[in-house]
Amino acid sequence: MLQPFYASSEINRHGDYRNDENFLKKIMMDPRTKFIPVYNGKNLFKGFDQNINAIKFDYSLLKKLLPNGISDPIFLGSANKFYYVGFELNDQNSEAKKWIEENDIIIDDLRKYGPTLNDIDGSFLALTNGMNFWQKTHKFCGVCGYKNSSKEGGFVRVCSNIKCGKSHFPRTDPAIITLISHKEKVLLGRSARFPEGMYSTLAGFVEPGESLEQALEREVLEEVGVKVKNIKYFHSQPWPFPASLMLGFFAEAESTELDIDYNEIEDAHWFSLEELKSLKHPSIKNGFKLPRIDSIARRLVDTWINEFR
Ligand SMILES: [Zn+2]
Repeated sequence: MLQPFYASSEINRHGDYRNDENFLKKIMMDPRTKFIPVYNGKNLFKGFDQNINAIKFDYSLLKKLLPNGISDPIFLGSANKFYYVGFELNDQNSEAKKWIEENDIIIDDLRKYGPTLNDIDGSFLALTNGMNFWQKTHKFCGVCGYKNSSKEGGFVRVCSNIKCGKSHFPRTDPAIITLISHKEKVLLGRSARFPEGMYSTLAGFVEPGESLEQALEREVLEEVGVKVKNIKYFHSQPWPFPASLMLGFFAEAESTELDIDYNEIEDAHWFSLEELKSLKHPSIKNGFKLPRIDSIARRLVDTWINEFR
């Protein structure tokens, strides 16, 4: 099976421990527990070039920088006999700021270093980020507007209004992503928010009441005016940046004619195998880039290339 990034099979989430208050209290003070900080939606790293490591605090450093403890800790689970807890390092914390400066800590997007991190760290950082984003955007009950409080190791938020008491759970938004092919060419496009020169597979969020196949057909028709057939599931890729689950598909176009909706995407072309390998296309000045290595878009393209090579 293709192992997706940010979803290591080495980690155990221990959903069964989330209700055990005593256990959670104990590991919060255990010198072996590893605490993973999120800092303004980003992560902390140390090192250079390909030698980048994720910063994990031990209990003594945590106590030094956050003497009042963590608000809303996230019990992430265990790996290699260590327990992991995610938490938010507030940028108002001057002790933490000082520590970051003094230790040459890099604050950056996980996706920049994800592929070079070890699998377990990458997965726990991604989980921390996704959970932290959800916690921050669910401070208040969506039903009655009262404050929510954190329960079950951070995986449930419960409304404080006793007349309401609604439990809120972390959400993941499904999105389809698809490599469209026609004979020996594939369709890639770019959105205005992509890094310069990058062309990728088409993608879009699934709407309520829609099957994955319908979402795929709709998105492709909307974005490039192409009708598709022979939709085949490939793999999934958690993408908690901040809250997506990418569901990868291959599909075939009925024709190569494009009718691009420029409100949705900036550009799209059909690419031959040679063009994909040389990263050059007659309609794109200065060549193009493929999606980042940790993305399912790249895996769709690479898989297609390998099959045609
Ligand atoms: Zn409520």
